[in-house]
Amino acid sequence: MRHVAVIGSGPAGYYTAEACQKVFGEGVRVDIIDRLPVPFGLIRTGVAPDHQSIKGVSRRYAAVALTDTVRFVGNVTIGQDVSIDELRTLYDAVVLATGAPHDRALDVPGATLPGVVGSAAFVGWYNGHPDYAELAPPLDGPGAVVIGNGNVAIDVARILAKSEAEFGASDIVGHALTALQDAHIDTITILGRRGPHQIAMTPKELGELGELERAVPIVDPGDLPRTEFDAALDPGQRKSVTHLRNFAVAQGSDKPIRIVFDFFAMPVAIEGDGKVERVVVERTALDSDGNASGTGERYELPASLVVSCIGYRTPPIEGVPYDDRSGRFANEDGRVLPGLYAVGWARRGPTGTIGTNRPDGFAIAEKIAADLGEGSDKQGRAGLDALLAGRGVDVVTFRDWQKIEAAEIAAARTGAPREKFTSVEAMLAAKNP
Ligand code: NAP
Repeated sequence: MRHVAVIGSGPAGYYTAEACQKVFGEGVRVDIIDRLPVPFGLIRTGVAPDHQSIKGVSRRYAAVALTDTVRFVGNVTIGQDVSIDELRTLYDAVVLATGAPHDRALDVPGATLPGVVGSAAFVGWYNGHPDYAELAPPLDGPGAVVIGNGNVAIDVARILAKSEAEFGASDIVGHALTALQDAHIDTITILGRRGPHQIAMTPKELGELGELERAVPIVDPGDLPRTEFDAALDPGQRKSVTHLRNFAVAQGSDKPIRIVFDFFAMPVAIEGDGKVERVVVERTALDSDGNASGTGERYELPASLVVSCIGYRTPPIEGVPYDDRSGRFANEDGRVLPGLYAVGWARRGPTGTIGTNRPDGFAIAEKIAADLGEGSDKQGRAGLDALLAGRGVDVVTFRDWQKIEAAEIAAARTGAPREKFTSVEAMLAAKNP
């Protein structure tokens, strides 16, 4: 028997578990450990609440977690309830699938003013992550600035712009829905330090901005490169740029909210009296490699809210080699130390879609198989259970999660799939109704 512990129940963790099932068949026992009492990581608290079709992938994960070979072990914090060294003693392989839940720091003066939030916090707030349920971002407007030209910036702008009706079938949490409907934001500026050809936004996500009930996307035609240069782009990027071109020609609108794409625009300072009031922006120019540098021309954007969507980092874990420059665990193709592996964003950084984690999970399962041979006489889950019971940890199983989920479904507002619990205490209470 091989004993595998996967830390993190997001997409990377579940795809790793599924791959271990396929590679080892009945000859493996996988424990998926999560700090929260609820599974699915990024699927639950990262993917936008109005993108329910992407969240549907959790049904496939449930099928994995309800077999004898794979268990969910929730409400267990690494470094508090059990250490990495203890897990490495108990299991043949320990796989770090902890994602990249911390924001890359925005390195400009004023970035710590109240009203400046990172996307991990803002996304966590509207998705009901217990760490951010109390965030209460200032939505009094009239300006909001979203920094970054990736898909997270689009998610944030779209969520700020949607009407209550547009959230109808979503699982946005009640506190966020109420706050957003009481908001007074009329201008959402998306700042990109480079140009339309350098965006990291995908076509489907960009296209959605053109279909919002009460918001219109605005692109300055003068920012767009000449059309013939689009031919050098890959097909996906070309489609994205075509959306921007369409936004640039369709400017007349009586919709009350404007989503303004401000390209060649780099934040250099955030200012305000005790809270954010404005962002100081410097115009940029690109060199022949597409890198931006400031031109010296500066202007100000009024804002009561700034959301920085400039990428994520994996938090370090004591005793695990860490690559500080890249913000993830130091690894060679997923191998960190003997018997210790990293997968998903914790391995490669915050890139790619949910599906990118599938081949990643398989690659790690195959490396574990190559390193492990026939397995060992390690204690695996029996040893973990004894250790956690001795420490009085209130472990949450997948069956417990199903009770929590049933309570969330029962509490849903009309048309919504669920109303999430936003505190660990409420989640734990729901498993023992
Ligand atoms: P991302 O795609 O890496 O985009 C980060 C953006 O931040 C880039 O435009 C980058 O510009 C900009 N940036 C970085 N540092 C900056 C700074 N100091 N000042 C100003 N701008 C800065 O990251 P993400 O949006 O966080 O997304 C993470 C991953 O999740 C991506 O793979 C994304 O596609 C995926 N995702 C997918 C979906 C979906 O499929 N619906 C939704 C959300 C996220 P430069 O290019 O100039 O560095």
